[in-house]
Amino acid sequence: MTSLPKEAPLKRLGLVIDLDTCVGCHACAVSCKEWNTTGYHAPLPDSDPYGKDVDGVWLNRVHGYETDPELGGRTVYFPRSCLHCEDAPCVTVCPTGASYKRTEDGIVLVDQDICIGCKLCSWACPYGAREFDTDGGVMKKCTLCIDRIYNENLEEVDRQPACVSACPTKARHFGDFNDPASAVSQLTAERGGVELMPELGLKPTNRYLPPRPGATMGDGASLQDAPVADDGFLSWIDRVLSR
Ligand code: SF4
Ligand code: SF4
Repeated sequence: MTSLPKEAPLKRLGLVIDLDTCVGCHACAVSCKEWNTTGYHAPLPDSDPYGKDVDGVWLNRVHGYETDPELGGRTVYFPRSCLHCEDAPCVTVCPTGASYKRTEDGIVLVDQDICIGCKLCSWACPYGAREFDTDGGVMKKCTLCIDRIYNENLEEVDRQPACVSACPTKARHFGDFNDPASAVSQLTAERGGVELMPELGLKPTNRYLPPRPGATMGDGASLQDAPVADDGFLSWIDRVLSR
């Protein structure tokens, strides 16, 4: 089994995802796939994409849900990727040390050279955020585009995860949650950003901003009656994730 860092990370890098403005276009997922299939976790294979046995590695997946009619009956788009948990069970369950959490920025990574493909980490992750590469026999996951955010060959404006750069509605934000002045900290405070499944005690870094009552979707559906944080929308999405 593998230990988590004893000290809290210096930075706590992660994402804020705004469920109010996400339109489910999948630009983030496609951009993630494009960057990472030649990057840190290269390649991200697909097999039988139009057949019966579809299989592929997508480090970011966007789900569309219809909420229960009594909760507003609207379509909600929910992007899902690793949340870079503080108490990450995917790390502690790893028998080889391949899964680990970095002390400098809190990013959870997989060292593919020592991953034996046992899949224990994917069983341990309650968010379904791990992706098994059946071709390579190794586990893969969101790296927060580690090879972009510190890449000095890129313009500074591009040193952020590919999903954040690609999002046409600016629903995705990247930054350091340890810095109270960062956009991610401020958005979380202003909009009541929430962690998923807090009852599990994993302390995920990423935060989700709930839909704002009164806003409208592009398809004209009203959000007036949409459930909001706490016992409303986020509890509902937790229930959906638990199924
Ligand atoms: Fe591990 Fe899943 Fe948490 Fe990511 S979301 S750190 S894969 S438990
Ligand atoms: Fe939602 Fe932005 Fe991803 Fe499109 S790119 S699915 S709007 S988060």
